[in-house]
Amino acid sequence: MRILRFGDKLPSSEECGCGLEHDRTLREVIIGPLKESLEYILEYGVDGPFAVFYDKVTYEVAGRFVQRILSGGGFFVEGPTYEEAEEKAEKVKGFKTIVGVGGGTVIDVAKYAAFRSGANFISIPTSPSHDGIASPTASLFSGGRRISKKTRPPIISLIDPSILSNAPRFLKASGFGDLIAKIVSLKDWQLGRDELGEPYCKTAESFILKSLRLMVEALEIRDSFERIERLAEGLIYSGVAMMLVGSSRPASGSEHLISHYLDMNLGRRVPHGIQCALAALPMALYHERYNENWWMDEYDWMRIRILMERAGIPLTLKEAEISEDLMVKALVEAWKIRPNRYTILHKRKLDPVEARKLLKDVQLI
Ligand SMILES: [Zn+2]
Ligand SMILES: [Zn+2]
Repeated sequence: MRILRFGDKLPSSEECGCGLEHDRTLREVIIGPLKESLEYILEYGVDGPFAVFYDKVTYEVAGRFVQRILSGGGFFVEGPTYEEAEEKAEKVKGFKTIVGVGGGTVIDVAKYAAFRSGANFISIPTSPSHDGIASPTASLFSGGRRISKKTRPPIISLIDPSILSNAPRFLKASGFGDLIAKIVSLKDWQLGRDELGEPYCKTAESFILKSLRLMVEALEIRDSFERIERLAEGLIYSGVAMMLVGSSRPASGSEHLISHYLDMNLGRRVPHGIQCALAALPMALYHERYNENWWMDEYDWMRIRILMERAGIPLTLKEAEISEDLMVKALVEAWKIRPNRYTILHKRKLDPVEARKLLKDVQLI
């Protein structure tokens, strides 16, 4: 069992000097067999009663086990909707701690319900598919639209590499994709800092850089256990960066806007991180052409392509079953989703001809 300590081990706003209010809710991330981790948190006094959230699949994977060890109440999550999250928040009144066992959907609903009911939140991810494990936002759907709700991060997250290793291959690829996306998102944030004077946090930056290092290292090793452990740790650090500054700004730039556009218009769910990596590729080339502050030698679009290949992410739109026309539209229009989150797409608006050329140049089409 390995414990990563955050909480007051993280620098305060004053120590950092960034001017942003640092959120340090996440105290510990415990990496190791679930049974030991659960015993540890019971011993060290996380308050019950516990409400355990899961879906039909994650109930079998770990939910039932967690519920038994914590002697908690059990709640099935049907879908990632705002309405369901609100309804669950009503039902869990009286529970001191809410435990989300699952992938994106369960974690987001549990996180939101905990926030609304004032309970503590513990996350137990069953797949390493995105960096929401420790982030402060919950991504929910309402009337077919994706909405991002500011909530509170978990106080503790339990990572069992043997559970994560068993996640489907495409979900692991998605986790890697969400980390590859940070190559672009960090530069978009810096664009906001340099051109609009947006607040910028060096501590959050250091966590994003750590995530990138872990992602690159993980993709260089074959051993699945170690690889997954690094991937999970990378996803945690990215979540910590977002938590610190209280927004997704460090970890979500132009590539995430494109992914959100696809979420709204594709009519089919492609894993989040896979969409983000596919979008990061043309955005990297776009930065290379029009942003002097782009990475020196560390990363370029070709390097991103190699990382994607190692992660098992599709390298063409055809393979990902995303239409060329839709992707062109996404590149042209995605900035409108968040007009105030400055990225390279806001700095220099793309037209369909140039967008299509970018996709060609990075060999996505
Ligand atoms: Zn993401
Ligand atoms: Zn800071």
